[in-house]
Amino acid sequence: MGLLGNEKLRFIVRSGWRGTCPRCSQASMFRGWLKLVDRCPACGLDYGFAHADDGPAFFALCITAFPLVFVAVWLEVTFSPPWWVHALVSAPILALGCLGSLRPFKGWLVASQYVNDAP
Ligand SMILES: [Zn+2]
Repeated sequence: MGLLGNEKLRFIVRSGWRGTCPRCSQASMFRGWLKLVDRCPACGLDYGFAHADDGPAFFALCITAFPLVFVAVWLEVTFSPPWWVHALVSAPILALGCLGSLRPFKGWLVASQYVNDAP
């Protein structure tokens, strides 16, 4: 493929963010929330090239945990709440943050693998 530099990056970001096939952009690369399809239903791209199983979870956790620490510290300093308030506030942020960021992360990894490994 003739994608270089910014164009390549833009393509990866767009494909990953929308979760669409990195080759044809016509169909979703996901079968469930995070499960990849085996083959693109639109262009037949085989997703066997994608090995993005562990990476996204790690990235998503880091990205979510980092601001969460600030929120927790801010809560503690400002309100000095009992521990269960922290649990109540942190749990949904962590869950939403992970679930919400995992999918685009996985999409980005798959798209970048496709762009970089494509013959
Ligand atoms: Zn496709």
